[in-house]
Amino acid sequence: MEVLQNTTSQDIINLENKYGAHNYHPLPVVLSKGKGVYVWDVEGKKYYDFLSAYSAVNQGHCHPKIVGAMTKQAETLTLTSRAFFNDQLGPYEEYLTKYFGFDKVLPMNTGAEAVETALKITRKWAYEIKGIPENQAEIIVCDGNFHGRTTTIISFSNDENARKNFGPYTDGFISIPYDNIDALENVLQNNRNIAGFLVEPIQGEAGVFVPAEGYLAKAKALCEKYNVLFIADEVQTGIARTGQLLAVNHENVQPDVLVLGKAISGGVYPVSAVLANNAIMNVIKPGQHGSTFGGNPVAAAVAMAALEVVKDEKLAENAERLGIIFREKMQEYINTSNIATLVRGKGLLNAVVINDTEDSDTAWNICMRLRDNGLLAKPTHGNIIRFAPPLVMTEEELLDCTKIIINTLKEFEK
Ligand SMILES: *Cc1c(COP(=O)(O)O)cnc(C)c1O
Repeated sequence: MEVLQNTTSQDIINLENKYGAHNYHPLPVVLSKGKGVYVWDVEGKKYYDFLSAYSAVNQGHCHPKIVGAMTKQAETLTLTSRAFFNDQLGPYEEYLTKYFGFDKVLPMNTGAEAVETALKITRKWAYEIKGIPENQAEIIVCDGNFHGRTTTIISFSNDENARKNFGPYTDGFISIPYDNIDALENVLQNNRNIAGFLVEPIQGEAGVFVPAEGYLAKAKALCEKYNVLFIADEVQTGIARTGQLLAVNHENVQPDVLVLGKAISGGVYPVSAVLANNAIMNVIKPGQHGSTFGGNPVAAAVAMAALEVVKDEKLAENAERLGIIFREKMQEYINTSNIATLVRGKGLLNAVVINDTEDSDTAWNICMRLRDNGLLAKPTHGNIIRFAPPLVMTEEELLDCTKIIINTLKEFEK
């Protein structure tokens, strides 16, 4: 690694710009180390991480227990494929299903793959159990959704940037307004071939939109009434992020199909999962779905350790408590501010809306100044800044961070 020795951040950015596809627009900071709530750039400057890799690093960077499980397993057995059994997968499957209260899990690697898996299971259930005529099944989704980047998933996105010129698109999806129970009932009443309703309990990418209290419980009840599967995409909201183990727990909802990813591994390794009960999951038979890496022994060992950390360190409780403090502090400031108009969120998944047009670069410029001031966050959808630190943060650290954020926003007061 000698070539890296006198390399500056700018050198590395130049390499990415020259040799990497330009499918992201990163904030210009080059990180080389992480520990807990902190990351360091190649020049050694320390930052609070307020993105947590889109809520994958809920347990904090390089958590010793998770990294320990990974290195131990990596030295022992990494991959067998599912052509054979491995000694980690069964115990992990038992642990995971009991942890979330389901009969079975189907292990995958990325969030998008898990969403795809959930869609396939839902369609198969619709034909083989519900009795929908072949190729007629429809799945309801919500406007403003983000479920990943595959061709099928972007087919039902309404983000033009994610969608345009990637057609032809996959059929079989009906999009309705988010957080609108009447719209859901209307579609359920007027279509006999609905297989499932796919929903994010909070729309993270769209800008941390929290639905009205009771929305998820009512949606679940409607799904039961019309014999439609309630599919919760908790890839971003799950694993303690919103102050409960799952965001649906705030309304005591048990989804029919649960999609997990990101923090299920603490950001150490790509791990995702779909959970469901036997009546649904048993529609999948050998050869009908799978993945070479899905359920590999490293993933199993890592995810088990990562989920133990969530319980041992009471991360949901911490997220709930610190989230209230965060929103209180921000609200206090917003009451006197003309640059920030509102704060919303649950637990430690929050967003601040900046007082400017959606196509302005004010939110980006604020994130650049936050970076200079030692805190990393990223705008999502124009004028909204998402704030999602690792859940291992202490109250003292959080108060330090709200100071940095408020002082930075003050620089932009008009
Ligand atoms: C990130 C995310 C996904 C996709 O996960 P990948 O691992 O990036 O494929 C799906 N759904 C939600 C809600 C997400 O936040």
